[in-house]
Amino acid sequence: MKKNLYSIVIPVYNEEENIPVLYNRLRKVMQELEGDYEIIFVDDGSSDSSWILICELQEKDNSVKGIKLSRNFGHQIAITSGIESAIGDVVITVDADLQDPPEIIPELVKKWRCGYEVVYAIREKRRGENFLKRGFAWLFYRVLKKITKIDIPPDVGDFRLLSRKAVEQLKRLIEQYRFVRGLSTWIGFKQTGVEFVREARYKGKPKYSFWKSLKLALNGIVSFSIAPLQLASYMGFVVSILSFLYAIWSIIAKFVFERTIPGWTSIIVVVLFLGGVQLITLGIIGEYIGRIYGEVKKRPLYIIEQKVGYKDNEDYKEENRGKE
Ligand code: UDP
Ligand code: MG
Repeated sequence: MKKNLYSIVIPVYNEEENIPVLYNRLRKVMQELEGDYEIIFVDDGSSDSSWILICELQEKDNSVKGIKLSRNFGHQIAITSGIESAIGDVVITVDADLQDPPEIIPELVKKWRCGYEVVYAIREKRRGENFLKRGFAWLFYRVLKKITKIDIPPDVGDFRLLSRKAVEQLKRLIEQYRFVRGLSTWIGFKQTGVEFVREARYKGKPKYSFWKSLKLALNGIVSFSIAPLQLASYMGFVVSILSFLYAIWSIIAKFVFERTIPGWTSIIVVVLFLGGVQLITLGIIGEYIGRIYGEVKKRPLYIIEQKVGYKDNEDYKEENRGKE
């Protein structure tokens, strides 16, 4: 039987307390799976000792690889850089904080063996996250589902298995404003999910602040839908109808009832309302134009400062890949 190579991609941003525990749990799981594996830690500009820990692990264990980005590029880009340098037949992305239990990996792999190209882990329950975050997440996934044409599964984060075929297609999507869970749905193929209970963060603080989460949500919506732009025209339409009705009312008031109203209130209300609608519309257009600007600059997605453990990786590719 052909020996499979599994690549585990882990984005790391100041996770020194979690790396050793994650590594031990992962290794245990991976050793039980048949086949070889590589564990790729992507250090997304950590300022703690995460990179040192990664290098130490690499020295002890050849299946550990490390990529150090030149600064903090953000979770989605860190994942992307890991996926791009992975050479496995299967690539699995896992958060470093143990919220995505590695013990689920064999279940994902099982689905892959049944012929699925993308297997995502569905958060059946979320533990240790506050009410506000859970509420927003719930709302976001439902809104996203309503207004996008592709069927992005709700309650799915970035804990996911991608087959080599899916990875190759994902690599062709070079957009800057990345929403990886949307992109991996967009590529198509046979996809399925496995449910799991999302545990609380093991150690450390969440690296996603409320604003970062909001930005990610906005990326999800703006990258996959033009519904907000259409909203502007709907608002315009509603406002026009209302003003038309109001115009009729004012003519009747003047000529039929002959009431001359000072009219200050109505003018202020109309002016403020229209001003508000116009600002919202401009803001929405601005969001899209800002992204167009970001894309046309065609900057590289990320810059790698250092890589460890990669030479062996290349050797593996040439010597052992696909051997019986
Ligand atoms: N992360 C990253 N870069 C960032 C923010 C986060 O690589 O700028 C990593 C982080 O180390 C973790 C994963 O992305 O492994 C998810 O982050 P976090 O746990 O803060 O997100 P949450 O679980 O709250 O969505
Ligand atoms: Mg987390």
